[in-house]
Amino acid sequence: MQLDDLYQEILLDHYKHPRGARAIPDAEALVDEENPTCGDRVKLTARVEDGRIADVAIDVAGCAICTASASMMAERAPGMEIAAWRRFAKAFVEMMRGGLEVPEATLGDLVALRGVRQYPIRVKCATMAWHALEKALEKLRA
Ligand code: ZN
Repeated sequence: MQLDDLYQEILLDHYKHPRGARAIPDAEALVDEENPTCGDRVKLTARVEDGRIADVAIDVAGCAICTASASMMAERAPGMEIAAWRRFAKAFVEMMRGGLEVPEATLGDLVALRGVRQYPIRVKCATMAWHALEKALEKLRA
């Protein structure tokens, strides 16, 4: 129970104070995704420099899980090499789909999202921003 409370606190903190969040005008969004099941909307923009993710900004109108997950993503990605980020994001998404365990030390705050796996319909909420960044990286490379 204690642990659940802790996770709840991490999630709420990211939900109430999403990292990397700012208003992104539609024209500036590299990716604009909607999840009709839940009503989540994620707009995202990013910058890459020398093979690294230099900056990620998110504009989320969504549920707590979607917002918290986007915040954790936006906090983690900047500064990472694109290839390393891709490996990490892939492992996270697979973990959320129940196919893989990622060590807690690697997860950091993301450990708070593991419980979402019990609710398959919400897994999309927790992975939406991650897919959005992947799409943005594809666009930036093109
Ligand atoms: Zn949602």
